[in-house]
Amino acid sequence: MPDRIPFNKPYFTGKETEYIETAVKSGHISGNGEYTQKCHQFFESKWGIKKALLTTSCTDALEMAAILLNLQAGDEVIMPSFTFVSTANAFVLRGAKIVFCDSREDHPGMDENTIEALITEKTVAIVPVHYAGVACDMEKIMGLAKKHGLFVVEDAAQAIDSYYTFSDGTTKALGSIGHLAAFSFHETKNIISGEGGMLAINDEQFIKRAEIIWEKGTNRSAFFRGEVNKYGWVDIGSSFLPSEVIAAFLWAQLENLESIQNRRKIIWERYHSLLHNYFNLITIPKYATNNFHIFYINCNSNIERSKLIKKFREYNVISVFHYLSLHSSRYYKSKHDGRELVNCDRYSDCLLRLPLFFELTEMEQNKVVEIIKNFIKEN
Ligand SMILES: *Cc1c(COP(=O)(O)O)cnc(C)c1O
Repeated sequence: MPDRIPFNKPYFTGKETEYIETAVKSGHISGNGEYTQKCHQFFESKWGIKKALLTTSCTDALEMAAILLNLQAGDEVIMPSFTFVSTANAFVLRGAKIVFCDSREDHPGMDENTIEALITEKTVAIVPVHYAGVACDMEKIMGLAKKHGLFVVEDAAQAIDSYYTFSDGTTKALGSIGHLAAFSFHETKNIISGEGGMLAINDEQFIKRAEIIWEKGTNRSAFFRGEVNKYGWVDIGSSFLPSEVIAAFLWAQLENLESIQNRRKIIWERYHSLLHNYFNLITIPKYATNNFHIFYINCNSNIERSKLIKKFREYNVISVFHYLSLHSSRYYKSKHDGRELVNCDRYSDCLLRLPLFFELTEMEQNKVVEIIKNFIKEN
């Protein structure tokens, strides 16, 4: 069997264990210590996020967002069907009804032009997912939200270090535009901490309550700042904050953001130059940037994709697809209103992600590309 080329291999910068040791020796390994503060400050100063709060996952950050919006049973939330389950689950847990919208034809992100027709009196929020770190049209989405009095929660799980440029020329980081946003540091993302995430709060009205929800429904954060002289139970909440061990790991990654991104850029662009003659590859809209999170190809059919995955496996190369459309999932099918979402189904059937990680070598990449080229010749 040839040497295995995995789909993903977590990259370690080398400082992770040193910082974890520092955290351990400091005697403070529960949450909200020095490394957590460093990470918060990084996001707030670099990307203009009003208030950052590390969480134990992006899933948790989305759940915090759903609590902050005070959703009532029957409230509606609009989001793409082509996304990870957590995007929807967080709101379903609060009793909300999910109204799924289709993907764009040229990109798996939500089709911004279909959103307005889905807005009703019950709509509370729009949840754009920046698929592959490529921005949804945030000017359009924020405009709709303003017009209809809605909140925007960005699922920025894949969107670290990616940007959106408004028509007046101002550029903002993804995750700093919506009222709230959620990032992921799961080991499959660009910047990792094993499991991990962050809630970004850009609308100040949510900051105080977010800290309370983060600390199990108590005003413990205010207590430690000396703002109140005892702390107690003041709201609902949960244990959303990660330990300092995780924050220390994350800090080692954030310090190396630039080199990690540069390496991913080289690999992504190499794939692009070697494969663009064979596939209709992603087009990055003018207002968006690429953060090199995912490189995918679009197969012509589900059968063709299965054959190619099998071919990769014969050479010990792991390629993966996602997502199974949420509107036709076992859990949500009967709750969906029956609208067909054809672009979403097509990406579900045909999109295939190629190995992309810091340590992927040029030789390994050549092998992946060769397999594809031979596959095309034989089929
Ligand atoms: C990875 C991912 C999530 C979940 O992130 P976790 O940190 O694993 O909870 C949510 N949404 C999208 C779009 C993702 O890619």
